[in-house]
Parts: sequence; structure tokens; C-alpha cells
Amino acid sequence: MNCMAIRWGNDIVVVDAGLMFPESELLGVDIVVPDITYLLNNRDKVRGIVLTHGHEDHIGGLPWILSELNVPVFGTEFTLALVENKLEEHQLLDNADLREIRAGNRFNLGPFTINPIQVTHSLVDCVALAIHTPIGVVIHTGDFKVDPTPTDNRLFDLHTFAEYGKDRSVLALLQDSTNVERRGYTPSERAVRGKFDEIFARAERRIFISCFSSSIHRIKLAMEVAWEYRRKVALVGRSMTESTEIALDLGYMEVPEGTIIHPGQIRDYPPDQVCVLISGTQGEPMSALSRAAVENHKHAKIERGDTVVLSSRIIPGNEKAIYRMIDHLFRREADVLYEDGSSPPVHVSGHASQEELKLLINLVKPRYFIPIHGEYRQLRLHADMARSMHGAVGQVLLMESGDVMEFDELGARKIDKVPVGRVCIDSGSRGDVVEDLVIKDRRHLSEDGFVLPIIAINKLTGSVESIPEIVMRGFAAGNENGFIEEARKVIANTLDGSTSEEKMDYGVIKEKIRADVKRFIGKTTSRRPLIMPVILEI
Ligand SMILES: [Zn+2]
Ligand SMILES: [Zn+2]
Repeated sequence: MNCMAIRWGNDIVVVDAGLMFPESELLGVDIVVPDITYLLNNRDKVRGIVLTHGHEDHIGGLPWILSELNVPVFGTEFTLALVENKLEEHQLLDNADLREIRAGNRFNLGPFTINPIQVTHSLVDCVALAIHTPIGVVIHTGDFKVDPTPTDNRLFDLHTFAEYGKDRSVLALLQDSTNVERRGYTPSERAVRGKFDEIFARAERRIFISCFSSSIHRIKLAMEVAWEYRRKVALVGRSMTESTEIALDLGYMEVPEGTIIHPGQIRDYPPDQVCVLISGTQGEPMSALSRAAVENHKHAKIERGDTVVLSSRIIPGNEKAIYRMIDHLFRREADVLYEDGSSPPVHVSGHASQEELKLLINLVKPRYFIPIHGEYRQLRLHADMARSMHGAVGQVLLMESGDVMEFDELGARKIDKVPVGRVCIDSGSRGDVVEDLVIKDRRHLSEDGFVLPIIAINKLTGSVESIPEIVMRGFAAGNENGFIEEARKVIANTLDGSTSEEKMDYGVIKEKIRADVKRFIGKTTSRRPLIMPVILEI
């Protein structure tokens, strides 16, 4: 989860504070954040958290960590803007101590001098960190690729890396392993431009482009191309709107007056004059694109002949949800484009491939090399690659989460393991920590019981065949009969508000019912029973 502590004596700096989205088996858990027992046990020594960039897997754990340990947070302008939004949501902003850093401007933190170095990635305003310690410089690359033509023209600062290598002052290089399995070079963000041109030149109706809301380069390109092809741009989905607004505010994008329209105005323009940037590339059931795919979005209507572009990676584990959504888009008779290996690419990675990794290692020439940010196999392959680079790398060290590596004048050694692991959080609130899923379920059942809404759906038509049944165990709502009547109404409303395609997609409809019943029970009883909708096919 990208959270590393660097300690000299009685001073600790933390690099990044990420989160993980739960795997499907962690049902009912919203996010997973790092276990910070080590930091809490040393709370008087922690001088601050320094952020490399604003991706969720680097900043998403902040609300949880700051609520336990309120220390200064250092980040670049864009990164802090994302952090502010996040902390605001959790009512933590007022008490937070956020300090802006800039690439090339060194600052001191305890015994460390930290030099942020401009790097390129799929997001903007990203830095690597050169952390000067009394026994040498530790360089943490953060996430990066070497993009020679970033859309914001803020170049990867190869010179500074080279300078560190020149005087052989680098004790350790910690490098991003994500794409170590890919040969060659990762294409520039601008490589997508060719594909966008093809799409815009050909499309006769609306164009929907979905990408990660943090892909500022991608959003910027889409806006530029839309403007050139005289299309208005509507932003649909909260995350897409928020991150674009931040990028506009901070000057990372400039859009000619009148280009952006409100989603409600989409229908006011002819279909061939509109481009919709919409969130939800991973088929998340409640995202704007998933809802549009089943004809259940107020503003984003996808019709025959429209073009839908998924400009993102298919994240392993999400295939099923994504292809289900793509199926729905095909049913709308849309022309759907997604990453299929064709050229020019509809998506490019934000992480360095082998040749870029080697380039940086050659520039930095570290005494010790440590792969970070990858699955074990990637760390291992990255270590093997670095080992083969005699002359550029002293010794290669392989560490896993929780390992403690000690450096001194004599060398480096693994000395200890500290507690690490996942802390599961329900409904995104820092108060809702779930120690363990089993414990959570047991607690749920013993304290709040369970509620089973049972819905009979006709397999062929998608219509609901009878009044929903509600079975409850270990849960009492006071006025039992009135409560069941009300809960039935809630379910009936959910069903009424769903299209027949949604009703035939049991994953979607179950999740909608679960969310609505949960909200209703929370409001009327402030209890949280386990809710497991059951669909009976008739
Ligand atoms: Zn990352
Ligand atoms: Zn990243």
C-alpha cells in the first residue's frame, strides 16, 4: 500500500500513504489501508509524511493515518489539491498541516534534507524524492515513466538524477517495479493522440470517453481534440468533474471559453457536436458509465451509433465487471473501443518499462538497489534485472512489506520485521475499522442480526413477480410490521427505478437493493445488520 518509513535515530519520515481497493472476497469492505502500528509505537519520532504524487494508492490512506497520527504532510501543489478534497470529505482538513513542496526546492525534515525531483507519470506534478541522510542519499522514484513529451511540457528531470550518480553519493535507489515485465520503452502520453484523432475523424454521433479521473494528461488530450473537432465537452461523474476542476484551477489545462457544457445540456446539441468524459472505466456497478450502459443515467444516454472509448487498463480482477458493462454497451449498439493491443494505442501505461528502468539505474549508480511498488514476482524480476547491470549497481536487496533494512558504514542487512497488514474500512469512514472480515461478520450477526430481502424476478422478462419477502434473524426493528412494510416499499422503489437490464444483472440489482436497504435501516434504527439480498429466478 505504498507506505515506507525512513528513520535515522529518533527521527522518522514517511513516504506516501496509500490504500488498496479490496478484492472481491472482502465483501462489504470499502477500502483497505496500511497497518501503522510501527508508526503509532514511535509516534513522537514521526516528523511528517512526504507524498510523491496524488494517486489513490499513494494518498488514499491519509485520512485514516492522520486521524491516528496528525503530522505535517508534504506534497506538490496538485497532489495537495487532491489531498485537500479527500480530507475535506472526512472533516479532517481544518486540523491538517499541509505544506507545499516544489520540484528542485530542497527542504529539511529532522536530520534529513529532501530534494523533490520532477518525474513524469500518468498524473501531473509527480516527484521522486532524494532524501539526504547522514550516510548517503536515498532516492525513492515514486511512480514514473520517462515521458519525453508530457502534455504539460514539464519534463522528467534526468539531469538531477545524473548529478547524483556523477558524484557517486547515492546510498540506495528504490525503484518502481510495476512494468518490469515489459520490454522496451513505455509510449508517451501523447501516443494516445493518434487514436483520438482517428476516433474523432470517424465518429458521426456522440463520443463517450472514459478514463481514470486522475489521468490528467488523458483528459487534457481529449479536451484538446474535442475542441479541434468542434465538439462541446460534458463531464459526467463526480470524480471526473472534481479532478478536472482542480486541473483547470491550477492551470494544468486550458480550455477555450464555452467548450465545457453542463451534463444537462448534452441533449441541446446535435450528437456529432458532443463529447462526454465519463467516469467508470472498471465497470464499477454504481459508476456513471455502468449506469449509462444500462440506460439508467439521467444525462448520459448512449444510443445506436455512439462511440464509447475505454481509455484505460483492464485491471486484473475487474475483467468480469468490465466485460459485462461492455456487453451492455454493445446492446445499446454503440461502437466500443478498448485496449486490444492495436496501434495507435487507446491507452498507455504510466509506468516505466525495462529500458527506462535501466536508464535511470545507469544515471544514478546506487550502492544498493531495492525494487518497490510491485507484486513479489515483479520485485524479483526487477532485482534480477538490476543484478545483471554490473558497473551500475553495487548490491541488490529484496524487501517485502514489513521488512526492516538497516544501513550503516559497514553495509546493509535485514534486521527485523514490523507489523504490517491490511486494515479493512467499511463505508470509507475512519471510525469503521474492521479488524478482520470474519470478526466483522460475527460481530454483525451477534449485534445486529441479518436481513434477507427475497425478490422473485422473471428470468425472461426481468419483471418482478411478487411482493418482496423480508426475512430477519437476530434483528428487531421495534415496530416489526410497520418496518417490514416500509422496507418492502424501499425495495419496490429500488426496483422501479431500475431498468430491466439492471434487474437481469443480479450483481447490479443485489448491490442496489443492499445499499438502499442498508441506508433505510441505518436511518430508521441506526443499526447495521448484515443484508444479503436473494434473487429467486422464476
Ligand atoms: Zn502507484
Ligand atoms: Zn501512480
